[in-house]
Amino acid sequence: MRTGLGYDVHRLVSGRRLILGGVEIPFEKGLLGHSDADVLVHAVCDALLGAAGLGDIGEHFPDTDPAFKNISSLKLLKRICDMVRANGFRVNNLDATVFAQAPRLSPFKAEMTQSLARVVETTPDRINIKATTTEGLGAVGRGEGMSAMCIASLEELSGRDRQC
Ligand code: MG
Repeated sequence: MRTGLGYDVHRLVSGRRLILGGVEIPFEKGLLGHSDADVLVHAVCDALLGAAGLGDIGEHFPDTDPAFKNISSLKLLKRICDMVRANGFRVNNLDATVFAQAPRLSPFKAEMTQSLARVVETTPDRINIKATTTEGLGAVGRGEGMSAMCIASLEELSGRDRQC
């Protein structure tokens, strides 16, 4: 078993869609970034890369590369899952927390879980998404941005499983 940690932060701005866990969430602002700035998916990507010993998301998908401009982060996650599998691992579970002062994310957690489970090719019971405010404290509490953390655990495939 291997574990990895992912953490990400993005600024909130007007005139952008808010995408979290691949789900569009109605809100007056969205996250700013080169891709769709899905802070949750980016934390998941880094947790998976960390657990597999494959570096970080910026190394694989530089924010200077026009190919990744406004790309759905689910596409980046899919490519990372392919890399993880090619290196002989399968996802055991993911546990993530999104930090956001607003909007309330609980109505969207089930859809985010489904969306991640589909891309990671696992069952929703192996993916847990939590959401919390920071009680008005700090940059997240002032609504200047959102952050996310994720822990991933991977199971190392045996030689026979790899061939399947
Ligand atoms: Mg990011």
